[in-house]
Parts: sequence; C-alpha cells; structure tokens
Amino acid sequence: MPGRWIYHFGDGVADGGRGDADLLGGKGANLAEMVSIGVPVPPGFTITTEACRAYLAHGALPDGLEAEVDEHLALLERQTGRTFGSGPDPLLVSVRSGAAASMPGMMDTILNLGLNQDTVVALAGAARDERFAWDAYRRFVQMHADVVLGVPARAFEERLRAGRERLGVATDADLTAVELRSITEDFFAIVAAATGCEFPADPRGQLTLAIEAVFGSWNTERARSYRRVARIPEHLGTAVSVVAMVFGNLGATSGTGVAFTRNPATGERRLFGEFLVNAQGEDVVAGTRDPLALDAMADALPEAYGELRRVAESLERHYGDVQDIEFTVERGRLYLLQTRTAKRTAAAAVRAAVEMVDEGVLEEADALLRVDPDQLDQLLHPRLDPAAEARPLATGLPASPGAVAGRIVVTAESAVEWAARGEQVILVREETSPEDFDGMVAARGILTARGGMTSHAAVVARGLGLCCVAGASSVRTREDPRSVSVGEHEFSEGDWITLDGSTGEIFAGRVPTTDPEPSEHFDRLMAWADRERRLGVRANADTPADAIRARAFGAEGIGLCRTEHMFFEGERIDTVREMILAPDDGARQRALDRLLPMQREDFAGIFRAMDGLPVTVRLLDPPLHEFLPGAPEEVDALAQRLGRDPVELRGRLGRLRESNPMLGHRGVRLGTTFPAISRMQARALFEAAVDAVGKGVSVRPEVMIPLVAIAEEYTRQMTLVRDVAESVMQASGVRIDYLVGTMIELPRAALTAGRIAADADFFSFGTNDLTQTTFGLSRDDAGSFLPFYVEQGLLEHDPFRTIDLEGVGELVCIAVERGRAARPGLKLGVCGEHGGDPRSIDFFHRTGLDYVSCSPFRVPAARLAAARASLGDRTRPVSQG
Ligand code: PEP
Ligand code: MG
Repeated sequence: MPGRWIYHFGDGVADGGRGDADLLGGKGANLAEMVSIGVPVPPGFTITTEACRAYLAHGALPDGLEAEVDEHLALLERQTGRTFGSGPDPLLVSVRSGAAASMPGMMDTILNLGLNQDTVVALAGAARDERFAWDAYRRFVQMHADVVLGVPARAFEERLRAGRERLGVATDADLTAVELRSITEDFFAIVAAATGCEFPADPRGQLTLAIEAVFGSWNTERARSYRRVARIPEHLGTAVSVVAMVFGNLGATSGTGVAFTRNPATGERRLFGEFLVNAQGEDVVAGTRDPLALDAMADALPEAYGELRRVAESLERHYGDVQDIEFTVERGRLYLLQTRTAKRTAAAAVRAAVEMVDEGVLEEADALLRVDPDQLDQLLHPRLDPAAEARPLATGLPASPGAVAGRIVVTAESAVEWAARGEQVILVREETSPEDFDGMVAARGILTARGGMTSHAAVVARGLGLCCVAGASSVRTREDPRSVSVGEHEFSEGDWITLDGSTGEIFAGRVPTTDPEPSEHFDRLMAWADRERRLGVRANADTPADAIRARAFGAEGIGLCRTEHMFFEGERIDTVREMILAPDDGARQRALDRLLPMQREDFAGIFRAMDGLPVTVRLLDPPLHEFLPGAPEEVDALAQRLGRDPVELRGRLGRLRESNPMLGHRGVRLGTTFPAISRMQARALFEAAVDAVGKGVSVRPEVMIPLVAIAEEYTRQMTLVRDVAESVMQASGVRIDYLVGTMIELPRAALTAGRIAADADFFSFGTNDLTQTTFGLSRDDAGSFLPFYVEQGLLEHDPFRTIDLEGVGELVCIAVERGRAARPGLKLGVCGEHGGDPRSIDFFHRTGLDYVSCSPFRVPAARLAAARASLGDRTRPVSQG
C-alpha cells in the first residue's frame, strides 16, 4: 500500500504505474511500471507531486513526509541488504526530479547521496576499490554543492583539471585514489568558502536538503521559461524519485549509457545511443569524455548488451512507442534507470509510427496518436538547394534536421535581442545548458562545438523543431570580441552562416534552400488521418504560388484569400491610392477600372491552381490608411505622380486618419461606404471564373464579406455581389455555382448570427478578430503584456494561438447554434490562426464546424489534428461533444 506521500517500488512489486504520471512524475511512474513488468530496476521510492505542491504552498515539507521517508529507507535497506548512512556496506541513493512532462529546466539528478567521511571508507572496503569510493564521493560533493547548495560548478571543474594536469592524464577516469581524495578535501574548502558553511555530513540531512532542492527547482527561472514555451501548466509540481545506487564506475565490466529504441533523428529501427565503460551517468551527457556508439557495447559487454536489446524491445512493445532509456551495467549486470517516450524529429516520429503499424505493434489509429501535429511542419521545412554546390567548412553531428541560414550570435542573450529586432540568428555555443533555453527558442538554428546526439542542444532542438548541428569540434567561440572560428575560417558576430541539420554540415554565408518533398511514410500517415477525420482542411492562400503549395500539402480548398494582399503588390499600390484618394466617383471608377484586370488575373491563377476545389475570396478588409503614405516627402511624391495638388491631398489624407484603425473604417464598412470597390472585386472574380470555365477549369467560388456586425451590412453586400454575378453570367452565357457568406469575427455578429444566416450560405469564423474584440485586446499590442498573463496563470494559453474556450469559444458555439437554427445546413468554417492549432481544432471538431482553414505549412498538422479530434470521440463522454 502506498503511503500518504510516498510510493515504493522494488523486488518485482510497485505501488502505481504508468498511468500515475500526474502523481509520480513520468520518471517515477515508469520506474514503477518497469518493476511491475519484470524489467531489472534498482529498488527505490517516489515522493509524490502532491507533496511538492504542499511544500511550495507552505514553504516546508508536509507533516508526516519525513517519517514516511524513514520507513521507506528502512524498506530499501531490507531490499538491498545495505544500511543508509552507516555500516560495513552503506546504502547510497540517487535523487532525481520528475514532473509529469519531462522538463529540462529543473534540477535533474544527484548521485551517490549517503556518503560522508565514514561511509566512504566503508564503501571502499565493500567494493574493494578505494579509487571507486573516492570518485563516488567527489562526484556526490560536486553535484550536491552545485544543485542543492548553489555553488558554481566552475571551481570544481578547475580543480579536476588541475588534478588531471598534475598526473598528466587525459580523463577523470585516470585520476588516482590519492588524487581523488585530495580533490574531495579541496571541494569541501570550495563549498565552505562559497557558502560559509561546512558541507553537510549527515546522510539523512543530505537527503532532506536534496528533496527540498528538487521541489524548489520547480520554480526556477529556467523551469518557468521552459513551461511557458512547452505550455506546461504552472500548478503541477514535480515528484522526487529516490533510487538505490547501482554503479557503472566499478571497472571494465561496468558502464553506463543512454539508448533509443529507434534512431531519434530518422526513425530507423535500430537500437541507437551512446555508452561509456567505467563511468557514471553524468559522464555521458557532460561531454567531458567522448562516448562510444552503442554498437561498441556489443564487444565491450556482450551479455549486458544482449539483455539491453531484449529489454528495449519489450519496453517498446509494452508502451507502443519509441523509448529513450537510461541504463547502468554494474559488474556485468544490467539495470534500467529510466524509460520515457523518446523525443524525436518529426521524420522519426512518422517513420516509427508507420513502421510499428507494419510490424503489428500499433493499429493505424494508434499511429495517429504517436505523432504530434505541432511537430509535422518540421517535415515541410527547407533543405539546402542541391544546385547550390556549396562546400562545407566543417561537419558536426546531424542533431536535428532542416537547413537554415542565419547571422551568428554567441550568447543566448544576444540571440533573444537580435531576434526581437527581427534578425534571423544562429546560436553558436561551445555547448548549451538549460540557461540558454530562451536563446535557443529565439534562434533559427543551433551550432555547438561539443556534445553528442543526446546532448542538451540536440535534445532541446529536436523538441523545438529547430535545425541543430552539434559537437562540431572545429568550432571555437569567443565572447571578447564576439567571434567564431570554424577551422581556418573566422566569423564575427552578425556574419551569415548556414547549417544543414540533416547532414551536420556547416557553410559560410547564406546558402539557398529548397522546399522538401514529403516521404512515403508521411503520405501513408496522412492518408490514415484523412480517413479518420470529419473536419475539412483548407488553406489561407493569397497567391497562386501559395495555392499550389497548399494543394500539395493536402488542402481541400482555400478558406481565406485576403484580397488586400493583392493590392499591395508592386506598382498596384499607386492605383489603389488613386482609388482611395479620388476627389469624386468618376475618378474613383477610373482607378477601379485599371485595378479590375489585375485582380482578374490574380483570381484566374488561383482558380487554375485550385481546379475543382472551393475558393473563398474575401472582399477588401484592411484599414484604408495602411495603403497611404505617411512621411510628408512621400505624400508630395505621390501628389506629383498622381498629378494632384499636395495641399489638397494632405487634407484628404488627414481626414482618413484614424486613432484606432483596427476598430475603424475597414472590412464591410469599406464596401458599404464605397460599394464600387466591392463591385469591382466581384466583377474581377466572376469574370475570372467564367474565363477559367472556358478553359476547362472547374471553379467553386465563395465570396466572403468581412467584419460584419449588422445583418443589413451583410445583406447589402450580398445583394451587390449577386447582382454583379448575375450580370457577368448573363453577358457570358456561363452559369457558375457560387456561394456568398460572411465572416463571423465580431461579438455582435456571433450574437445576431440567426439574422445574418437568413441570407448567408456560409459562416467563416475570423477568430483573430473575434479574439481581439471579445477581449477588447488589440492584436498588435497584446505582445507587451500577454506573456505575463500566461506566466502568472491568469490565462492558460495565449488566446491568439489557442482559442479561449470560455469566452471566444462560447461566442462560436452561440453563432453555430443560432446560425444553424435559422438555416439548417449552413456551412461553417474557421479561418483565423486557430484553424491550424491542434487544441483549437479539437474544439472546432466538437462544435460541429465543417472545415478549418490555416496557413499552407500548417495544413498537414491540421489534417492530423482533425483526425485525432475524431479519434477523441471514441473515448470522450457524449455530453462533452
Ligand atoms: C480573422 O480575423 O480571424 C481573420 C482571419 O481575418 P484577418 O486576420 O485578416 O483579420
Ligand atoms: Mg479579421
């Protein structure tokens, strides 16, 4: 029976299991699960996240926790035959943090806890290895001082380096017992100098400190920052697992490593990882010794390797997903210390999921749940243009795919600063650590000089979908002056560099890139998703090129063509300005007459690209002033080009200025006050449609009116559009099936949806404007304070990214209900940014929309998210739908 605060595992029996990650953290839940299914795991216990929440709420360990720790330590002593803090065979433990979702921002691991001046001597005797005992002790002091007492790691590293130099050896593994002992003594002095206190000698006290440190690490700056990006809720807290130590540093028949059941970069089915003989866990990730590829373990420790392969395979089958495993071999015997779902590239996720279906491990529906929709657009990211013929300067490890060019920055802070200025940057570091996280998020790519495929940089980049080249040993970085060298080549901060994260190659300058081609695995997965989903997926596309790309990504139509984007192009802008600033209707019409053929040409290209599919064209939306010149010299130049009096023109411009353009003269308000604009757009559209039909293209235009608040606004525009359509069709003798509908993007439109629906063939929710107007929160200004709201938990998500269910979502529900009540069969879609966001898509599915529309690169993610939403119906209680 588990205690109030602690769950035990060991000797084939465990409290809890994989379903208890919320309470035991991912690590604790999986340790318990592994014990239950017979995987060799050292015994231990997990202190729950509930205890962490109590600690964080009251600033002290909860009542009864210490007594339970004592009980579980006693049980651990019985299971291992060792004693904690005393005796001839002392029990040492590792202390590890583990939240429900893996979180690199937190304190990770302390090894060898339980050592002091007495137990180190006993350990040396029990292991018959004095060097081992002192090595364990110095590691413990170093880790405990660093993560629990907050003593900077550098002083310890320097002391170790001095030791290596004195003995003339290359690695810490070659340090002698005598030297390690002297290093440990010096470490105590470092701790005393930094903290003003002696290093804690009582093992039980060490354990309490470590538990408190793990709990406290939930709230460190970098943990918060990670949660913000990974969208992990603030209130969850972390669990602490205390596990009996097994030792990978007991000589040539011991070792430690990490393994992935499939290659996390490609998905290839092959045990993949890194390993070190005679080492403890942190040696593999620290980059201080170069780990061996896991294959080498087959020669070094053949039996343990065979066992590892068997265990890895059974874990993968048991979990039905690629696993990331930590293991230790103690004198030939294998122990697993952790298993978790492997972080992998999108390519690896897709390939592994599809191949696991072929292997009979997964059903097709399960495969859809193994791939994160948000990750998919990684697969669609650019590669180096094969025609570019660039010669690499150097090659590192291909740690996370995609190709990217950017300007070099050498600190995380400058990455953040430069990115905020709109620069595309590549963060170049010796190696990265959790402190660099914000800089990594801001960068387009990451290059490190040290560290392997499982280094911090590699793991974080894969999770973020960033291109990363790791462990490029010819890279040197300098902070003063800020510069980087790659072999012979010198770069200053700000110089351009190009990375290919799929090959590990590094190039000077900007190398051109090309769009990728989806793989066969991707196509199969997408086909399963298409079979499963009910929601249609369209794209927001404004140009024929966008439309072609969207179609290649599987878009089933265009859900939003923002026609104003066509107005900004090239020399058109002056004609548009002439139209807006026209002194009378005649002059306005002349300008519109010149715009008409240009618009027609645009629409013709889009119809061709979307042959047979619906194309939703939205009439002009943005505030007029966006088209107009601002600086006085620009106004004068325009007056000259248009042959107008500058003073008169300035007066007219002044009258068009608005103090709140987002809520001003835009959308349907333009078409209402200047119906000639809508008439021109409708004519261009229907003439292009008739023309396309003449060329054998099948067209399905849907005309959409933006920013409607009042039913009559919509009805007038609808009538105007239908009149133009009728006259074009009559003149050409060609009939076109078309729809006219409206955006629902203002609260008033949502509330009066019943009246609007009477005349509308469809609604498309403009959730960008609907969010801004529901919150009364300007889209353009929210960035300055919204992150604070999310960080403080006032809002769970950025509502411009994931739909706010309570407010905006409620308005969507009201509009759906009232719209469909007035007009059964009313077609419903969404074309705000939320149309590409998986959580929002789940809501749109449940609300009964017909389709979502998103940017072309998000189309595959939306297809997968829509399928996952359908799958959710099988498990969701009916009342939630
Ligand atoms: C919207 O408001 O959601 C929308 C799609 O329109 P825009 O972003 O162009 O205002
Ligand atoms: Mg809008």
